[in-house]
Amino acid sequence: MRQRVRQQAGDRCGYCRSLQKYVLGVLEIEHILPKAAGGSDQEDNLWLACRLCNSYKGVQTQAQDPVTNDTVSLFNPRHDRWRDHFIWTNQGIYVAGLTAIGRATVIALRLNNPYAVAVRQAWISAGWHPPVEL
Ligand SMILES: [Zn+2]
Repeated sequence: MRQRVRQQAGDRCGYCRSLQKYVLGVLEIEHILPKAAGGSDQEDNLWLACRLCNSYKGVQTQAQDPVTNDTVSLFNPRHDRWRDHFIWTNQGIYVAGLTAIGRATVIALRLNNPYAVAVRQAWISAGWHPPVEL
């Protein structure tokens, strides 16, 4: 099942979109709804995430949209389409939210943390980033 989830996720983090081939750490199988919040080990609740996104996400399931102040669900990488909720800015250095879910997730998962920003700048120089979003 782990291999199937990895394949479904396109071998990249469902949140920051980092490809396995570009990160040193092994991407993790994460619980979309955390086990601590009652999430299951079923395939439908599993996706692939990098260590940073998974650790920043923690047990969060919702976050506040900074524009509307509404509390919304975090982005669900299995059921939501990334490009419907996010866009790359500054040639791909930063992720911006297009929707309440996107904006809340950018903040909750710190998608523009200094480590991610630094590595994306290097990836852009190498021509590896941003990824094409289908
Ligand atoms: Zn990530």
